[in-house]
Formats: sequence, structure tokens, C-alpha cells
Amino acid sequence: MAIKVFIPTPLRPYADGASTVEIEGRDVGGLLTVLTERYPKLAKHLLQENGELRSFVNVYVNSEDIRSLALRDTPLAPGDEVSIVPGIAGGAPDVDLSKDEIARYSRHLIMPEVTIDGQKRLKAGSVLLVGAGGLGSPMALYLAAAGVGRIGIVDFDVVDYSNLQRQILHGTADVGNAKLDSARRRLEDINPHIRIDTHEVRLTSENALDLFRDYDVIADGTDNFPTRYLVNDACVLLGKPNAYGSIFRFEGQASVFHHEGGPCYRCLYPEPPPPGLVPSCAEGGVLGILPGLIGVIQATEVVKILLGKGRSLAGRLLLYDALEMTFRELKLRRDPACPVCGENPTVTALIDYEAFCGVPGAQSSEETNREVFKMVEEQETALQDEQKPEVVMPKDIDVSALAERMNGGGDGFLVLDVRDPHEIAICALEDFLHIPMMEIPQRFEELDRSKEILCLCRTGVRSGQVAMFLAHQGFRNVRNVAGGIVAWAKEIDPEMPTY
Ligand SMILES: [Zn+2]
Repeated sequence: MAIKVFIPTPLRPYADGASTVEIEGRDVGGLLTVLTERYPKLAKHLLQENGELRSFVNVYVNSEDIRSLALRDTPLAPGDEVSIVPGIAGGAPDVDLSKDEIARYSRHLIMPEVTIDGQKRLKAGSVLLVGAGGLGSPMALYLAAAGVGRIGIVDFDVVDYSNLQRQILHGTADVGNAKLDSARRRLEDINPHIRIDTHEVRLTSENALDLFRDYDVIADGTDNFPTRYLVNDACVLLGKPNAYGSIFRFEGQASVFHHEGGPCYRCLYPEPPPPGLVPSCAEGGVLGILPGLIGVIQATEVVKILLGKGRSLAGRLLLYDALEMTFRELKLRRDPACPVCGENPTVTALIDYEAFCGVPGAQSSEETNREVFKMVEEQETALQDEQKPEVVMPKDIDVSALAERMNGGGDGFLVLDVRDPHEIAICALEDFLHIPMMEIPQRFEELDRSKEILCLCRTGVRSGQVAMFLAHQGFRNVRNVAGGIVAWAKEIDPEMPTY
């Protein structure tokens, strides 16, 4: 009597890629024996040494969860279908709650959706937070308070003043110190009954699988595309759910990827946007409260996954707009052609994600301005048809040379600050001409061509593009202030506030 057995995606690599197999068996025990004999590699993922099902694997006969039944003796009838469902919400885990813990979690214990059993599941559960920043902070605080037994955090950053506006794990006294130190101190104070694992490393293709392997759920709190794709692919390869969140300015997104047969991040975005197209928070800014809300949504999903309760965000993308105060929801489907979780995956091992996302080296993407970029390109194309004047490529000038020029006086040059007015309001040099980058194409004729023009912005990226633009307009004496006003503040005027 052949029974159809459904193999879940994460276990298919151990079953020669099969999604279903037909197996003879009169009861579940016999069926599992034949299955693991046919695919020996599957055995260690399904069964413990003693032959019992592993705690994170459920077996359904038709739609019934048979873990609670006398598992191996469960009889099978013709036409039955057996599904193997790896999950976290298996049987009640083998942990106890102390008197202190029972007092601490009492508001959980009286909820029928949690109870002592659920609280034990949280205690037996584990989550790895990728990043201890804006999203990682609220996640860590609430997951620790809720009693998730093991919280891992991967981060290698130090606390900066500009983090404190949203990264509430860290305080003013922590500036300059490793984020993991303040994270550990804060979380241990919130809940001494849990274990905090700190991993002070940059997450890479080399270490991701080893880091992720020991955790039930991965929560993505990253702020860059290479790491986001890396987290996604590692989760798919290991069969882990990925509680995802992302933020920009006033908007946030959340979902749960690769969970309950739902799509992964690549089903949604098979490829990253070209570098510079989507600015990061460092470039575009972010409302400090926003990661609080999105991180708490991620933490909620983590708790639900560990409890095995409720309807997760798998298959749904939640969009939040803080300015409008609206939540919208998009349906997501698994893409059978997905390069990682699809029927014929082409990504079967972790790749070089910096290269995949077009990020040169380990450099973070800097300020960019598409519009002007495009403009320069269009100008160049147009000029090819006309008579092309000789373009004198602009050179860099560093901030110490700029300081010498400014101290030396004279009016043979001018500093052109191309930042936006709200940036000028934060900090500026004593003497400069202000034309915001976006107005340069309309206003560049205001510039005195007889003078040397020194272009300045925050870090030198935008001003570099302006310098290039001016060079294409026939300006022969243009330079770009390397490192921008940030370098000036660091090297020349330490009293100057920066952002
Ligand atoms: Zn996918």
C-alpha cells in the first residue's frame, strides 16, 4: 500500500530533491523506517539517536498532527497522505520554570494562548538577531522580557552619537563602546533568566551557516542589501524562518520569509536594486520611532513562531507609513522560479553578496543623487553629437589644503556648498556660496568662471558629482573637497557639530 509523503523544502536536499515520495507502510513508524533507509541523510534531520522524532519535526497524517498520538503505531489507510513539517512548535519542551520565572511571566501564563506550556516553549526557543541597531534594539528588549530562552546577537559596530536617536539598547555612556557590550548589560538587567550569546563578527558567507544553525528563528535587523540577501539565502538553505523588517524615513516593511511554505525575500526581490538607487538610513534619514514599531512587529512574529500560535506574516508584506499612519498589506506568493527556494534552485551555497549587490569592497554606499547622475549622462550623450569641448577633469582637494586656502584669504576661489538648506543649518564653513545640488543645473551660470570653485557636501560624494557636472559645462578650474564637511569637522574643527 503506497502512501504519499510530502517532503518540506528544507529537507529536500536530503531526499535527492524530491518534494513527494511514494512509500509502502502500514503505520507511521514503518513508513519512517523505509523513508530513512531510502534516504539515509534524512535520518539525522528527522530522528533522534533513539529513533524518536526530533522535537522540531511534526508529522501530519492528512490534516491531523500525530505527534500527540502514539506516533509510531499510528495506522495508515489507502489514500492517506503524510506530511513532514519541520517547525518549532513541537511537543512541550523539556524545560522547567522556576518560582521566580512563574512570577515574572504570570501575565503570560494566564493567557490561554500561552500558558505554562507556551512559556516553556519560549524558554526552550532561540532567536538570532542580525544587528543590534534600530530594529535589533526593540526586538532584543521585548524578546528578552518575554522570556525567549536564548537570544543571539551578531554585530561588530560601536555605539555612535547618531545611533541614540533610535537604538534604544544603548545609552549616552555607551558611545564609543561595542554595541554588544551595552546590549548584553541591558538585556541581562531586563531578564537574568535567559542566555545572551554575543557574536562580535561581521556576518559573512563564510560564517553565516554556522552562526544560524543553532537558532530556531533568525530576525533580520540589517540595513544593507548584501547582508539582507545573505540572511535570506542562509535561512532558506538551513530551513529557518526569517522575521524580516526594514525601514526608511517614515516607512517600514515587515514579513516572515521562508516559513509555513511561504515565499522568501528573493521570491519578492530576486535581485538587489543597483547601488545608490535605494538610499540607506545614513543617507536618507529615518524617523527614530519607526524602527521601534517595525522591530516590535518582528519580535511579535518571533514570539508567535516559537509559540506556534496565530497567523504569521508568512506570505504577506506589511507596509507601514508613519506620516499617513496607515498599514497596508500585500499578498506574497512563493515563486517557483525563485533562485533559492524555487523548484530548481540555482543558488545552493552562499555566494559573494557584496559583488551580487554591486557594492565595491566593503565600502558603504554613500550619498548619491540619481537625478544629477542621469543629467550628466544625458549631457554627455548630447555632447557627443555636437562639438564636444575639452573637459578638464576635476581634482580632489583635502580639508587641510582647503583650510590653508581659506586662512590665506584672497578671492581667487569660492567654496560652493551643494547641501540642502536643512543640512547647512546643522553646520557650515564661515564663508561659502550655497546652491543646493538639485538647483545646480538651473543656476550654474551664476558661478564666476574666473574663480576656482571648490565643491563641498557632507562627505564628498554629491559635491564630486557636481564638480563633474561643472567640468562638463566647461568649467576648467573645479575641485571637490574630499571627505566633505564631515572630514572638516574631524580634522580641522572638532567643535563643529556633524550629522
Ligand atoms: Zn524564494
